[in-house]
Amino acid sequence: MYDIAIIGAGPAGATLARLIGKNYKVLLIDKRALLGGEEGSFEKCCGGLIAPDAQYMLGKLGLGVPKSVLVGPQLFVVRTIDIQNKIERFYQRHYINVDREKFDSWLVSLLPSSIEIRCGFLFKSFEKTDTGVNVKISHKGKEYVEKARFLIGADGAFSKVRRLLAPHTFPKKYIAIQEWFKVDKSLPYFSAIFDKNITDYYSWTIPKEDCLLIGTAIPVQSNARQKFELLKENLRNYGFVWKQQIKKQGCYLIRPQKVSQICLGKENILLLGEAAGWISPTSAEGLSYSFRSALALAKSLRKNPEKCFLDYTKQTKELKANIFSKKLKAPFMYNPIMRNIVMKSKILSMNMFMNLERLDCSACKEEEGEEL
Ligand SMILES: Cc1cc2nc3c(=O)[nH]c(=O)nc-3n(C[C@H](O)[C@H](O)[C@H](O)COP(=O)(O)OP(=O)(O)OC[C@H]3O[C@@H](n4cnc5c(N)ncnc54)[C@H](O)[C@@H]3O)c2cc1C
Repeated sequence: MYDIAIIGAGPAGATLARLIGKNYKVLLIDKRALLGGEEGSFEKCCGGLIAPDAQYMLGKLGLGVPKSVLVGPQLFVVRTIDIQNKIERFYQRHYINVDREKFDSWLVSLLPSSIEIRCGFLFKSFEKTDTGVNVKISHKGKEYVEKARFLIGADGAFSKVRRLLAPHTFPKKYIAIQEWFKVDKSLPYFSAIFDKNITDYYSWTIPKEDCLLIGTAIPVQSNARQKFELLKENLRNYGFVWKQQIKKQGCYLIRPQKVSQICLGKENILLLGEAAGWISPTSAEGLSYSFRSALALAKSLRKNPEKCFLDYTKQTKELKANIFSKKLKAPFMYNPIMRNIVMKSKILSMNMFMNLERLDCSACKEEEGEEL
């Protein structure tokens, strides 16, 4: 019998496993091939940008990102495009640009050898027993049942653990689509595109080596494919160029709107990372929340496993407040009138001299003659 079975070896699950692995007998399950083998064919759909809050958490967790995980270019600027208001600005923001699969595999590679890691295994269901939980998993068509005292769902936005435990608590769901295209020249910025004809959230482009990643998050039940095509058309009008498509990705993304949509689990079944609802509702930045929730749960489990649900709830009060404080910022990003006022005011924006090639770039024209 295991002390703890963790479903999902993404940033949340792998971090929790690393923090408790020496104190408990841990089983870590993931359907992906995170150990470098051929065990799974899934790939996490993600922008792979480590934002400053996640950089802070990596530092706090005693980690520095290895070179093998990085992809070029490293980014210091966000190009914000508001399609309806026909306005664009550049803002300074520091990201670490990574290969998301390699990043996740690196986190798994840090786990102590005492942890049993099973990649390529699919979590199917659980059943509560007098002593804990029976966890049903499958691998290559064969089913297995493992016993554990605690079950942790760190299985992301479409968490099966949460669907079985608390199916009616999910936040608003979006379909995230990303397409990768070859480019001749990579752009030196991440761009965020706001267009109410596509989504009430936002769309993005991210340069990744010799590719441009184009992505968007569209509310479920919208015509996602048609909206994605409209996004590409808009981007072409804004001067983005790309060549052949390399790959397509898609997954769910959640956007918590109310405190009740953060679900930490129940008794000995706990939720972590995006499965619990830990993600920014304004930027979809999720890595810092995965690390922070994993650290909180690790502390609670180490303190007193019997009372860990209560302690985890207490430890994450601040994190909840942090998520909903982001909502104060939301109108400035998502209300077209307020966004227009903010962008027109040029508060915190910067001018891009790198873009001088694009002679029609308004920011460059305005800067001409100004001192450097
Ligand atoms: C399109 C998109 C772009 C994003 N870009 C960024 C970004 O640039 N920066 C950022 O900070 N955040 C970004 N996010 C959010 C970020 O990806 C997530 O918040 C973060 O990955 C959550 O980590 P997690 O460990 O909780 O879940 P996940 O990373 O989703 O990991 C869950 C793990 O569980 C496994 N799993 C799921 N179901 C099962 C099952 N039934 N059986 C076995 N294994 C299972 C999966 O294979 C996966 O490895 C983005 C999200 C999306 C959708």
